[in-house]
Amino acid sequence: MGVPDDAMLAPGVWACDLSVSASHPHFVTPPEHWTDAEADNLARIAAVVAQVGGLVGERPRITSGLRRVALNQAVGGSRHSWHLTGRAVDLAWSRHAAIDVLLAMWDAGTVVDDVIAYHPDRGGHMHIQLDGGIPRRRYRVRDADGSYQLMVSRDDITRTRERWQP
Ligand SMILES: [Zn+2]
Repeated sequence: MGVPDDAMLAPGVWACDLSVSASHPHFVTPPEHWTDAEADNLARIAAVVAQVGGLVGERPRITSGLRRVALNQAVGGSRHSWHLTGRAVDLAWSRHAAIDVLLAMWDAGTVVDDVIAYHPDRGGHMHIQLDGGIPRRRYRVRDADGSYQLMVSRDDITRTRERWQP
């Protein structure tokens, strides 16, 4: 049980990257305290992080990975957040907007359960989650007004990207 801090879970993704919180570092669960189930889920998430980074040629910064209850409450996460089981990750890039990465994932046919690109005014990050079963492959955006919108075509994404241009 548990994983060393410096274990590489996927190319360029280390265990310590997935137990992070900029705002509440004292609530983070270090990798050596992960359960086997959490470690399994986080290894799958790490593979997706590496894959998505490769699509745009820039490794993302992981802003949130595993959250146990105290951390999830501190950051205002949903009671049923998939971060609680290590099946979700939040990512940010310095040279790419989340909507650009969403488009690259669409074009590559990246298989995830759910991915959400946030409007720059809503954090500008990306949430990715994985399921244990058949992935739903939901591609969504969270708009400036806080609404969630399902992207059903490539055009949906390119139109949203144009609308979000600064
Ligand atoms: Zn998230």
